[in-house]
Amino acid sequence: MSDPAVRTMLLATSNPGKAAEIDDLLAGRGWGSLRPDQIGIRIEVAEEGETFAENSARKALAYSELTELPVLADDSGLEVDALHGAPGVRTARLAKGSDADRTEALLSLMHGMPSPLRSAQFRSVVTIARRGSVLAVGEGTLRGTILAAPRGESGFGYDPVFMPAGGECTLAQLGIAAKNSISHRRAAVLAALDELELG
Ligand code: IMP
Repeated sequence: MSDPAVRTMLLATSNPGKAAEIDDLLAGRGWGSLRPDQIGIRIEVAEEGETFAENSARKALAYSELTELPVLADDSGLEVDALHGAPGVRTARLAKGSDADRTEALLSLMHGMPSPLRSAQFRSVVTIARRGSVLAVGEGTLRGTILAAPRGESGFGYDPVFMPAGGECTLAQLGIAAKNSISHRRAAVLAALDELELG
């Protein structure tokens, strides 16, 4: 039987790496989570907004029309200083194919850039919505450097080439617990939960 003390949030994502991180962050705050396919929801939300905030709200609101549960959506991406913040909201569309293909495309764009020019940040905007209304929003960033070649196997997306500032491992070498202790997503999820719970 489910524990009534555990509140449940629907995660508006089909990205298993992202969902695993958010699961863990929510569990630390006494929330359980479900993924759309576990309650028979299968939709694609076009991410055509000009900002992370816009895309995050679109995803949360679209899923919130299909369930009574509160819905949490994350829209995130990579902003490279020397590329004036690109790929930004287009991070997921940098190249067709797999995460490895997109990472390769990023490394090609940055080919030959010396280390001082390889600074970047991840940004995440999290929206919590219920029944068509936005309840809370949180944002987080993580500063770091883009390496010239991938290192590490864990995580997802661009984790193997992102070295957090002051660190010696890429996010893909850290593992989920350590990544979740410093990440852009941690800051965004916890800020949104604070707003939801403290109102
Ligand atoms: P979204 O699902 O539209 O938010 O796409 C985000 C894009 O940024 C995808 O290409 C992800 O792989 C990438 N991304 C977002 N957050 C992270 C992260 O924490 N690590 C690595 N890549 C990320």
